[in-house]
Amino acid sequence: MKKEKPTMTEKISQNTIKKLLTTRYIGKNIFCYDTIDSTNTEAKRKLSSPDGSVFIAEHQQKGRGRLSRVWESEKSCGIYMSVLLKPQLSPDSVPEITPVTGLAVASALRKICNVPVLIKWPNDIVISGKKLCGILAELTIPEGEIPHVIVGIGINVNNHSFPDGISDIATSIFCETEKTFDRSEIVAAVLSEFERYYEIFLNYGFPALLKEYTELSATVNREVEIISPTGCYRAFATGIDPDGSLIISHNGKTEKVSSGEVSVRGIYRYV
Ligand code: ADP
Repeated sequence: MKKEKPTMTEKISQNTIKKLLTTRYIGKNIFCYDTIDSTNTEAKRKLSSPDGSVFIAEHQQKGRGRLSRVWESEKSCGIYMSVLLKPQLSPDSVPEITPVTGLAVASALRKICNVPVLIKWPNDIVISGKKLCGILAELTIPEGEIPHVIVGIGINVNNHSFPDGISDIATSIFCETEKTFDRSEIVAAVLSEFERYYEIFLNYGFPALLKEYTELSATVNREVEIISPTGCYRAFATGIDPDGSLIISHNGKTEKVSSGEVSVRGIYRYV
């Protein structure tokens, strides 16, 4: 990977996003920040904002992945945003929002940047076996209210390189295409695709998206390593369940694993 200085591209523009959005309610309220601890944390502080509000920062000081892992958020290179959702859903169905978001981001990046991205179950967008985007959905149920879900999306867009700890597993759209992209256009495309898929999900459930999700899966039909709190083991990923969990074959048995419990790695590399 090139070790050039990162390109700090033009700031994300709320006007450009709003001009390009094709949504009914996702992104009708956008809060932009220069620097913030984490856009998910900010959305949690602003839970009374309308359904579909979006929080976007040029830089996160404490970007988070799952299990309190760090999300590296180089200033003005990537997209760091969170969408606040107030769905009429049972808490059991909330984890399915993660694969729905994965599908929306993958679809938007394929359309806007023409990159053949895939989805590493459950929450990463990958290309050439490296991670381009992470998704973190968090559930909060304020007393007496319906579930509020905060979906954090971190996309590496114009980064030229990555810090040592992740340089082997991370990539950006720039690294893959050698082109610099307008992040506002990508934000608008992601939010537009998100609303489209999310509405299908709310009306018909995740099974209605299962075929499309599986077709873009980088995990299905591969040997994987399952990293669970009780240990690691190898298994073969055979499919995605209609509830969004991963179906694996292990020691001759078929099992389901849910995203809260495990991390999945490829046998030889990240995917
Ligand atoms: P996992 O892939 O293990 O489920 P998460 O989705 O929680 O992990 O994402 C956090 C992990 O992603 C970090 O531990 C680190 O390995 C990696 N990472 C952190 N920042 C970035 C980034 N900007 N791009 C790609 N990978 C990153």
